[in-house]
Amino acid sequence: MLHLALCTTVTLLAWVPLRRPVPLAMPRGGACSGLPAWHARSLCSRSGKPMANQLAVSTTQQQQQEHTSWATFEGDAAASTPLRVMVAGGGIGGLCAALVLKNEGYDVRVFEKAQQYKPFGGPIQIASNALESLLRIDAGVYSQIMARSTMIGDRKNGLKDGLSSEWFATFDLYSPAKARNQDASIVIDRPILQEILVEAIGDSVQTGAEVVSYESAAGSSKVIGVLSDGTRHEADLLVGADGIWSKVRAIMDPNPKAPVWSGYTCFAAIANCVPDDIAEVGYKVYLGSRKYFVSVDVGGGRVQWYAFLNVPPKSLALAPGDQLRWLKETQFSEWSEEVHQLLDSTPIEDVEQRDLYDRIPELRWAAGRVCLLGDAAHPMMPNLGQGGGMAIEDALVLGQELKRIGDPDAVPLALTQYNSNRVVRAAAVQGMSRLSSAILFQYNHPTVVDSVWPPRIRNLGPRSVITRACQGFLQRIAFPLQFEFLFSFPGKMLDPQVFVTAANGDFAGPDAMKPHSASGPSERGVAEKTLTRTPLKEWFATYW
Ligand SMILES: Cc1cc2nc3c(=O)[nH]c(=O)nc-3n(C[C@H](O)[C@H](O)[C@H](O)COP(=O)(O)OP(=O)(O)OC[C@H]3O[C@@H](n4cnc5c(N)ncnc54)[C@H](O)[C@@H]3O)c2cc1C
Repeated sequence: MLHLALCTTVTLLAWVPLRRPVPLAMPRGGACSGLPAWHARSLCSRSGKPMANQLAVSTTQQQQQEHTSWATFEGDAAASTPLRVMVAGGGIGGLCAALVLKNEGYDVRVFEKAQQYKPFGGPIQIASNALESLLRIDAGVYSQIMARSTMIGDRKNGLKDGLSSEWFATFDLYSPAKARNQDASIVIDRPILQEILVEAIGDSVQTGAEVVSYESAAGSSKVIGVLSDGTRHEADLLVGADGIWSKVRAIMDPNPKAPVWSGYTCFAAIANCVPDDIAEVGYKVYLGSRKYFVSVDVGGGRVQWYAFLNVPPKSLALAPGDQLRWLKETQFSEWSEEVHQLLDSTPIEDVEQRDLYDRIPELRWAAGRVCLLGDAAHPMMPNLGQGGGMAIEDALVLGQELKRIGDPDAVPLALTQYNSNRVVRAAAVQGMSRLSSAILFQYNHPTVVDSVWPPRIRNLGPRSVITRACQGFLQRIAFPLQFEFLFSFPGKMLDPQVFVTAANGDFAGPDAMKPHSASGPSERGVAEKTLTRTPLKEWFATYW
């Protein structure tokens, strides 16, 4: 209960405008003059959003050549030595951080403990806000991602009753993205995403290298990362992007707390089938009591599914070949044909299972020359499909803050700025992800009034009544507000003198928040107006 209250508070806090620190080292000249040449060309000059096929894929290499000297701070006598950055962890967060920092001209090394990448689950959703960040991190990489992904944000998405398959509530990913001139959310196979990122970073990634600790004396201008084989690597900055069980966090935090079990275990696999509604529907969550089943079209005649069950951690001991049968017969036996079509089209040996953990938001992600990023800083439930997205946003802001500082001695200050710029938004998304799983947890098949007189009412239990009562609120208020908030990044978070002039559609841009006429599943702004301007009596009559 306390956790829920905290998450709600954090979520509300997110609506408070974020603090924008005063730039410490402003570039001279106009808005774009402080940019490295490639940024100025690829971003400042654009009149609209570059389309994927208009962007040159070789941008990354050009970028690296063009500004290798840029990260050697102006006026520094030792200008020939770029800042040395050590990244612990080569997941989405670590690779994006490496990319943005490498593009800024730093000497970056990524240490990844796995010999071979083996991500959990198949494809990953990259929501509009994260796409927007990727565009600013590297336009060539963004272009490749768009070319090799499947768009779902321009289709119908939402929640269905698990038994009846009736829509419970839908949500609109398209309108809030379109209004900001962002691309609609996509999904992409994780190995493809990793391949694109690793290729862009070049030979800086070392696999089979686990970072087990670091040493950094107070006030020292160096940090030393220690690998499991005893190797010591000296750097000016260490980024801990080593996931939820982060070793870097364990050293940074004097009172480390373990991640908390989220209440769920998750089964995941890819079904080889094409559901009838594939052209119109992208993402569906089938709801039941204390369990839910998620499906998403990932292209190529494949559908990714996740089954979330309220089963205590480490309590299941299913042999790999038994998982599908167990799910079908004991967990989803009465459920919709649509769920069974997916289970029946899944290769038995492909099912994976993982207990899900997250953390209560923690505020300190930086100490001296060390910072945390991605799941190491803010692990969250996957309900909003934003864990990877927040890691990508982190990488962009980290790059921005280092560039703004413009002085290698002030790296700790840049990391503090990064921390304070990111923490409220990430905590809010953590809270929203937790809150949404708590709401889904309470779902029961909603009350249905077949006839008022003589009264014929189905599903009359208290949770069914509450579920029905929440339906309109979720559809018309909670979901629209949620996506308005999520897609509001980068907005004013980006310093136009570092990354980009206000782009059409950003909150910072001249056309920000203007009503748009493009066709989409719903109109923007209605949720805010309804919430703030509808008289109470009418509000209750409409939604409850
Ligand atoms: C079921 C499920 C579905 C999800 N769906 C989505 C989605 O659709 N969209 C989305 O945005 N997010 C999604 N997420 C969340 C997303 O997967 C994570 O938030 C994201 O992967 C975090 O990236 P990261 O790089 O911070 O951490 P990780 O992906 O955990 O990467 C950390 C990396 O560091 C390595 N490592 C660990 N320890 C060390 C060490 N000591 N030294 C060196 N290397 C180390 C690991 O091997 C790993 O490669 C989902 C999560 C789950 C569980």
